[in-house]
Amino acid sequence: MYYFTNNEQQTHQEVTSSEKYPVHLTFDDGPHLTLTPKVLDILNEEDIQATFFVLGEHFDGGKANVKTLPFYNILERAKKDGHTIGSHTYSHINHLDYSETDVHENILKPNSLLKEYLSPVLRLPYGGGAFTSDDPLVQAKNTMVMNIVKHAGFTHVLWDIDSRDWDKESHGNLFPSLLSNISKFKGGIILFHDAQEYTVNHLREWIKGIKGNGHVFKSIDYFIPLAANTLPSEAF
Ligand SMILES: [Zn+2]
Repeated sequence: MYYFTNNEQQTHQEVTSSEKYPVHLTFDDGPHLTLTPKVLDILNEEDIQATFFVLGEHFDGGKANVKTLPFYNILERAKKDGHTIGSHTYSHINHLDYSETDVHENILKPNSLLKEYLSPVLRLPYGGGAFTSDDPLVQAKNTMVMNIVKHAGFTHVLWDIDSRDWDKESHGNLFPSLLSNISKFKGGIILFHDAQEYTVNHLREWIKGIKGNGHVFKSIDYFIPLAANTLPSEAF
């Protein structure tokens, strides 16, 4: 662990408060039938290319099913608007709690449902499997999950900055905390949830605030160059 002396910390804060950093917005758990289109409107107005890590279970019936077609229509629009679609796996489970067979199925299943849309990027729900652990048993599970992610054709994309928009108790301080984290981490990938009404209601003012502080919105390939590729055919 690295500690700043008081003087160093002071200098650090002075420097970071005036510096401009690159950021990329990511939205997990969608699409949501009414909220995601509002997110797309805002991103369009603000000329920002984001990434949507979608859950495969929303698309279970395919395009032929009247219940799932509207979810595809949202992806269609997101793609046309220049956004990146990544996988958030099929259902929102913590893969560390499941067997290798179940993990394999949950990670592979969205690929065929979403093959026209997915870029080769995936974010595990809760990041479950993507962290490292000192506990050898947990680390063995992490390795198992991450090997399956890799063999399924994906680069795993974690976040640098968690907005904590899912946590009502964080809402009061969300934006100041977001800005201070952008400085602290010198920009990076920001985690939001497009199925959260609070996020959708405040997104425009947060974006304007981030821009107002001089930071620059980048598309995902600025941080993850591979994201510009398509999912390899062996991934199916
Ligand atoms: Zn999630």
